[in-house]
Amino acid sequence: MAHRNSDFLNDQGPLVRHCLKCGCRIPLSSPYDKCKECLKKELFPKVKEFISENEDVNEMMLAAELGIDKTIIHEWVQEGHLEYRNNRPLL
Ligand SMILES: [Zn+2]
Repeated sequence: MAHRNSDFLNDQGPLVRHCLKCGCRIPLSSPYDKCKECLKKELFPKVKEFISENEDVNEMMLAAELGIDKTIIHEWVQEGHLEYRNNRPLL
């Protein structure tokens, strides 16, 4: 099996997708039609709201509720943008 280290360079190819909102490039593999940053801006208020309305929230629930990948939520938490209300330790 050959190494394919150059694969990611192919992002510059014609198959690139662009964020609907800001036009920046997004990975072909992304399930969303917006870049992560735009997605975050859009979803963040919803996430906050959801957390404030629900006592016991975790990443799985948020991901399921909002239809986003839980890695995005995880990043928010890691970046300190989100805190769960009840003790759910996130790291
Ligand atoms: Zn964008």
